[in-house]
Amino acid sequence: MSPEALLRRRLSRPLRPRAGRSSRAKGHPPSSSSFSQAGDGQGMIVVMKPGASEEQVQHAVRRVEQLGLKPHVIYGTQRTVIAAVGDRRDEHREALASCPGVADVVPILAPYKIASREVKPEPTVVRAGSLTVGGGTVGVIAGPCSVESREQILRAAQAVKDAGATALRGGAFKPRTSPYSFQGLKEKGLQLLAEAREATGLAVVTEVIAPEDVPLVAQYADVLQVGARNMQNYRLLEAVGRSGRAVLLKRGPAATVDELLLAAEYVLDAGGEQVILCERGIRTFETHTRFTLPLATVVYLHEKTHLPVVVDPSHGTGHAWMVPPMACAAVAAGADGLLIEVHPDPETALSDGFQSLNFEQFQHTMQQCRRVAEALQRNIPRLDP
Ligand code: PEP
Ligand code: MN
Repeated sequence: MSPEALLRRRLSRPLRPRAGRSSRAKGHPPSSSSFSQAGDGQGMIVVMKPGASEEQVQHAVRRVEQLGLKPHVIYGTQRTVIAAVGDRRDEHREALASCPGVADVVPILAPYKIASREVKPEPTVVRAGSLTVGGGTVGVIAGPCSVESREQILRAAQAVKDAGATALRGGAFKPRTSPYSFQGLKEKGLQLLAEAREATGLAVVTEVIAPEDVPLVAQYADVLQVGARNMQNYRLLEAVGRSGRAVLLKRGPAATVDELLLAAEYVLDAGGEQVILCERGIRTFETHTRFTLPLATVVYLHEKTHLPVVVDPSHGTGHAWMVPPMACAAVAAGADGLLIEVHPDPETALSDGFQSLNFEQFQHTMQQCRRVAEALQRNIPRLDP
């Protein structure tokens, strides 16, 4: 269903109370002003009339604030809506519905609010430097697991660009399972990534593992990666949300997709607007792959959220030889981007060499993914040489 049709379907629901069912406490029958589908009472959408003036939008925003709710204005192609998030009281709906220029006020049914497609039917397109993800454009982020040396990152950057990636990845702060493993080059690694961006024009995607490091990493990175281990580090999510940078949020290996969306909601609620979700595999009983990579996540997320979804077949499988077909499968499933580990010499990599492609394998993977994307009327753009 098209985004506009989705919103129309939501808006066409009557605001009558539903007999015999209410999300509110037992013993409190729904009043005549309660919502037909009550949601969880933590958010509603103030839908402005088509052609409502900016003054009317700002008036409604002020009313939302006066009622103790937090407004997030979303300017859609057809109409403007204001997501009003916070604890709801019935009189809020009445107060907002009577503002000039307001067409309707409806509850947000999903537990996540600003991330929900109910609030914003059109897909969000994330743009960060040379990287575009979403809206029919498949952005490819490639590079080594860790930044190891100047030569390594500069060679990797040039090679992934030549093969058609539009962003460079590389960890400078590495969250390692063992404290004795290579922990990354830290600020030196960030400087090398910035040098690689200078040389190639590629946007830089790099992980930040602690809230106090966000200002430093944001100085160098175009996209802040929040790793799987940190998906529910709420102080970190808030810090990246405030940073003004785009955020790539990886799914925790034991997190449900709804938990991933609620984690994204923290980033959005803190002011982040450019959030990319990443499926990177989950822990299951299965041992033939490092993690189990569920591609149905992409399809589900596209139904539930406007945020773009990228797939990481490198961590998702843990085997270089499994990466090319799973990258193609991710594009076929509708992924808005790919995150792929590529190393000049995977055998000598300081982290994740076993799942990293060499340059030739990456180039071949890109050719195949491009064919899949074209067959589905999507585009994997290239940067000018
Ligand atoms: C990584 O991208 O190198 C990484 C550490 O990924 P994840 O957080 O998904 O394990
Ligand atoms: Mn890695």
